[in-house]
Amino acid sequence: MAAILGGGIGGLSTGYYLLKNNLCSNNNLKLLLLEATNTCGGWIKSIKTKDYIFEQGPRTIRPKGLVGLNTLNMIQDLGLSEHVHPIKFDHPAAKNRMIYANNSLHLLPSSLKGIFQKNEPFSRPLIYALFNDLWNPYKQLKDDSIYNFVERRFGKEIADYAISPMICGICAGDAKEISVKFLMKIPFEWEQTHGGVMKGLMRSMFKTKNDNNIELSELARRAQEEKWNVYTIKGGLDNFPASLLQHLMENNVDVQLNSKVDEIKFVDSSTVKLKKKTGEEIMANHVYASIPSHVLADLVVKQHPELSQNLKDIPFVTVGLVNFYFDSDKPLISPAFGFLVPPIENSPILGVVFDSCCIPDQKGTVLTVMLGGKWFKEKFGENVTEKELFNIALREVATILNIQEQPTAHNVKILNKCIPQYIIGHYEKVEQIRQYIHDHNLPISLVGSSYDGVGINDVIYSAKTQVQCCI
Ligand SMILES: Cc1cc2nc3c(=O)[nH]c(=O)nc-3n(C[C@H](O)[C@H](O)[C@H](O)COP(=O)(O)OP(=O)(O)OC[C@H]3O[C@@H](n4cnc5c(N)ncnc54)[C@H](O)[C@@H]3O)c2cc1C
Repeated sequence: MAAILGGGIGGLSTGYYLLKNNLCSNNNLKLLLLEATNTCGGWIKSIKTKDYIFEQGPRTIRPKGLVGLNTLNMIQDLGLSEHVHPIKFDHPAAKNRMIYANNSLHLLPSSLKGIFQKNEPFSRPLIYALFNDLWNPYKQLKDDSIYNFVERRFGKEIADYAISPMICGICAGDAKEISVKFLMKIPFEWEQTHGGVMKGLMRSMFKTKNDNNIELSELARRAQEEKWNVYTIKGGLDNFPASLLQHLMENNVDVQLNSKVDEIKFVDSSTVKLKKKTGEEIMANHVYASIPSHVLADLVVKQHPELSQNLKDIPFVTVGLVNFYFDSDKPLISPAFGFLVPPIENSPILGVVFDSCCIPDQKGTVLTVMLGGKWFKEKFGENVTEKELFNIALREVATILNIQEQPTAHNVKILNKCIPQYIIGHYEKVEQIRQYIHDHNLPISLVGSSYDGVGINDVIYSAKTQVQCCI
């Protein structure tokens, strides 16, 4: 029997790929999924009413690249194609992305033409950044922070006003700590091999392209042809994990909710004992752990303290999330995806998503404010209340967007340790962790956002690769 720990998108996808690869039979109960809470989906949670949807975690998925196309294949296979709501390249939510700097909102360029023009807060057209890359020397490095890399290649303004807010938007983190390999692995390799990003880019243009080697479903093909920017799921993103869960249950996977695992004991290379909080013990031949690395660290600490320490070394950040619904006849915002705030502005908020522009079937104006992240404790201390976060978010929305109304409805959540931080050395750390597992013949595979990418696509793809590794 194989056991999956955790019923987030990582654990559910592991079940999906184990079934797809016929690694568990449809008739015998050979696959077990243990989820600590009373519901599956992990951070993917939607509050649904007839007037608005509040996404309490992720809201959009990117369709591009191997990992994006792979997710679309899964969505079609689950019969969810008709529920996909694409945001195409010409939609305002795709074109209009802003940053808040020097007390005003600035639209970031979204076309080639835009890089030849001067766009506030940048002091020169962005094209100059490319010259910077051509002239600047390079440093021989194994890894670097994404901030250092971008500052070295393209200048400080790009690092402060383009990359730093982008890192806040993706992982609520500090670009000065996050590994360049997190988002810019290939440009970094170009710098290291050819002395600069543009030089590497030019050379790569003469090489034969290695297209994504993946069979495309009709939905994935549509996404490419129609140039989707991002997409969401009608009726709430949590319909996606709900469909996966249904698929697992229809195929006789034993899904046990309210089943927190407290300890993992490895007996031999094909036997592992899982101890539930209730004291019940379960024997499995292999365990797929899709729980956060810091949680897994506590489960293996008694038997494998070194492994536990390495898992603990992956840091996580806490995000405050405030959803607002304004029951207004006219939209209170201009059509856009939203805006991000560069850390250099020293604001309590990371950014605001204009949900009523991105998510279909919403009345009025719906916004989500993200707060804290890497700076959560520094800005709000240890004991901040939801009420305080609500007040801060509302004050910022009033100041920046000039919204003076009181919200008709709201939701506040403190998402404790919700996003792993891929700091400098992360990829080497993960390799070291997997090497330890291999060297000690431990029947465990690591899945989920702690290891191979923090987005939904990455987590799903990581489940696929980890399942295939065990075949
Ligand atoms: C605020 C926010 C916004 C985001 N926005 C986006 C976005 O727009 N697009 C995007 O692609 N990604 C986004 N992400 C990232 C994405 O949501 C995550 O990568 C993904 O949901 C992680 O899934 P997972 O299965 O790895 O982990 P989780 O969702 O953390 O699931 C782990 C599961 O394990 C369970 N568990 C924990 N401990 C135990 C235990 N001891 N025993 C049993 N079960 C246990 C938990 O209850 C949970 O259900 C966002 C994340 C956050 C927090």
